[in-house]
Amino acid sequence: MTTVKFDQATRLFPGSERPAVDKLDLEIADGEFLVLVGPSGCGKSTSLRMLAGLEDVDEGSIFIGDRNVTDVPPKDRDVAMVFQNYALYPHMSVADNMGFALKIAGVHKDEIRTRVQDAAKILDLEEYLDRKPKALSGGQRQRVAMGRAIVRSPQVFLMDEPLSNLDAKLRVQTRSQIAALQRRLGVTTVYVTHDQVEAMTMGDRVAVLKDGILQQVDTPSYIYDNPANVFVAGFIGSPAMNLLEVGVQGDTMEFGSAHVPLRREAAGAAHQSGDAVTIGVRPEDMELVGDGQGLRTEINLVESLGADAYIYGVAKLGGAEHHVIARVDGRTPPQKGDLVDFAPKPQHVHVFSTATGERLP
Ligand code: ATP
Repeated sequence: MTTVKFDQATRLFPGSERPAVDKLDLEIADGEFLVLVGPSGCGKSTSLRMLAGLEDVDEGSIFIGDRNVTDVPPKDRDVAMVFQNYALYPHMSVADNMGFALKIAGVHKDEIRTRVQDAAKILDLEEYLDRKPKALSGGQRQRVAMGRAIVRSPQVFLMDEPLSNLDAKLRVQTRSQIAALQRRLGVTTVYVTHDQVEAMTMGDRVAVLKDGILQQVDTPSYIYDNPANVFVAGFIGSPAMNLLEVGVQGDTMEFGSAHVPLRREAAGAAHQSGDAVTIGVRPEDMELVGDGQGLRTEINLVESLGADAYIYGVAKLGGAEHHVIARVDGRTPPQKGDLVDFAPKPQHVHVFSTATGERLP
């Protein structure tokens, strides 16, 4: 059983004012594919590097299985890391690159050959084993980097943006290959990316970080449907969720000319903090309604995808201008320059405290 546990793990770089990773509590199940995601600088690489032993843990502990590895050197942690730049040795063949860590560990060369062959078969690299990395495509190099991790049959795979050097098309292909491979091998995996689409499509669970602080950890679909705060709401989902500050009267909120019912608890919380809340509405939950029945919006861009279209507009709400994004039927979308009214589907409105950004009940 290979679980991973961050217990209040903290990293404060010398000279920094605030920790790069702040009291991280996170448990990863045996065989799970966990994705750490967040914007640049949020502390995801530092978290992964602490788990790998490449970065000091200033406070708290890290466990792999039952073993406290906080002070264990990297080579004794039984983890294998796949780096962003692959870190292949240019002068070595693919086979030697893949077997190098085993050679250093003193594994017999027949055993190395067998393990490299097995990994090459899984990764479709058999015909490239004698080539040097420079004679490979980007996708093949990426697979060699994966192969180097696989041959070691580690307890945990650690991957730091392993797809960032691939072009968009190859990235999509490779992400499903990696996810399928991980499921087949069943090795506990921690995967770092800044790309929320990658996180949502690959992870069994996703941990969202901001400024070194864990914001939410759950399955992709739960996070999509129940973002814990305004940051997660805006970060997960593409195009992004509409986030708008609206006034609340009684149990309804004012959305332009529409009065949209609000859950009683949320309305109660709004009244305690200035009769306003921040609502979140996904583009697919924003509906076109009749003139004068919603939030009047001027369309400034229509992005047609065939069956659907995304429309981008600007609306005035509470004296300020807001950008509004909606997904509508692609066959009869409004046109640039049109004035239309939008209202949210009431059952799909997310409500957040404007003061704290936290989700309201
Ligand atoms: P990216 O996606 O850009 O790689 P990240 O989420 O992986 O970002 P980290 O690399 O973990 O972020 O960095 C977290 C914070 O720690 C950042 O503010 C960064 O500037 C800082 N940091 C990282 N490494 C060091 C270091 N060696 N010395 C000082 N500060 C560092």
